[in-house]
Amino acid sequence: EADRALLESEWDDDGLAPAEPALPVLAVIGRPNVGKSTLVNRILGRREAVVEDTPGVTRDRVSYPAEWSGTDFTLVDTGGWEVDVAGIESKVASQAEVAISLADAVVFVVDAQVGATASDERVVELLRRSGKPVILCANKVDGPSGEADAAYLWSLGLGEPMPVSALHGRGLGEMLDAVLDVLPEHSAHGELLPEGPRRVALVGRPNVGKSSLLNKLAGAERVVVDEVAGTTRDPVDELVEIKGMPYWFVDTAGIRRRVHQTSGADFYASLRTQAAIEKAEVAVVLVDASVPLTEQDTRVITQVVDAGRALVIAYNKWDLMDEDRRPFLEREIEKDLVQVTWAPRVNVSARTGWHTDKLVRALETSLESWDTRIPTGRLNGFLGELVAAHPHPLRGGKQPRILFATQASTRPPRFVVFATGFIEAGYRRFIERRLREEFGFEGSPIRISVRVRE
Ligand code: GDP
Ligand code: GDP
Repeated sequence: EADRALLESEWDDDGLAPAEPALPVLAVIGRPNVGKSTLVNRILGRREAVVEDTPGVTRDRVSYPAEWSGTDFTLVDTGGWEVDVAGIESKVASQAEVAISLADAVVFVVDAQVGATASDERVVELLRRSGKPVILCANKVDGPSGEADAAYLWSLGLGEPMPVSALHGRGLGEMLDAVLDVLPEHSAHGELLPEGPRRVALVGRPNVGKSSLLNKLAGAERVVVDEVAGTTRDPVDELVEIKGMPYWFVDTAGIRRRVHQTSGADFYASLRTQAAIEKAEVAVVLVDASVPLTEQDTRVITQVVDAGRALVIAYNKWDLMDEDRRPFLEREIEKDLVQVTWAPRVNVSARTGWHTDKLVRALETSLESWDTRIPTGRLNGFLGELVAAHPHPLRGGKQPRILFATQASTRPPRFVVFATGFIEAGYRRFIERRLREEFGFEGSPIRISVRVRE
């Protein structure tokens, strides 16, 4: 009881909490074939074993939520984004440069069996200039006899090489402990303040109509040039007034400037999207309604949900829609978005401006949900009735009981449920579904974590 009183007094302030601070970003970089992907999979594999999470999460993307020793971070994987063979050296370097610039700390992977190459030396130069903390991973040290190979890498001047076998997991724990020692608690990117105009990221794959929509929104209304008191202006952001309300559209420079179709362009676009999402409070994911949803669209939606930002999904180019196709399309959309049925969906046309007013209302709704706090008394009244009517199923003669819940934070709403035992995934989803039925949260991801009490 004393515990509960303490928790309530700690958490029950009704003010706005700062947005979920961006998790620190760890980038894994290195030449092709040094074992980056193997390493990343091994780090994530650990996580998968302990956390059961949203099913159907796409793997093929640039960053992943990761965890080590109770510390959450974002892992940027450059392994899947191999450059083509021509001019490989400079491309490795420029790809590494982008990853380094986004990261708070870097794991630089070198193949200890091969030793340091000229290309490795070039990356070392970039790392030195960046001033970011670096952990040197001497990979492919599969047994004690390989330790000597690792020692040679002292010559890179990056401090102690950590001997690792990504393949077998050898030395991984020591390396990750060293990473945690240098990783800051929060990312230096995307510090969010609860004041000032709301921050909107307009994201989606190339050619879905982002810049057209931005022009429509900014053009139809007055573009505010002077600064709003108390806000700092990033030159890549744009302040747009819609129906008398100012909004920051973040990284409009990235929307207005067309990315050249060079090797690795997807990689840069994906990193940029990630950065914009983290900087924003709400993301509008624009998709092209005239073609079927792609992997890349789903990936962007997943990025928003993982970052804990409010979400609106906009189906653009609706003016191209054939009336005959509509019923078919509605069914298809429902199937595609089954993971995010809670997100408002708006059909729009950036070309004609049709339904942009609806889009703005959806933005407001999602942000409101994102800010929502359920008082502890109401939450427990609801939960008490729910678990009395639908108790957790009996497992091996045991039945975990739910004791108490509280909302630990807003932006996004995060709940902590105290229980007498492990709550299985199906039951967690059941609680989430009912929470949404009862309290709404339209347009906001919600987080539920369970703490086991004796
Ligand atoms: P990436 O291109 O840097 O992402 O490298 P990959 O992860 O694709 O690995 C390249 C090759 O090295 C693959 O054949 C891996 O199986 C192998 N490899 C990766 N890590 C190790 C390791 O720790 N020991 C050994 N012996 N091979 C490894
Ligand atoms: P971005 O790459 O996401 O910024 O996409 P753009 O705004 O550059 O649009 C890509 C193409 O789609 C351009 O040719 C636009 O004119 C077209 N487009 C954008 N929005 C619409 C729309 O609502 N309807 C139609 N028919 N075409 C659109």
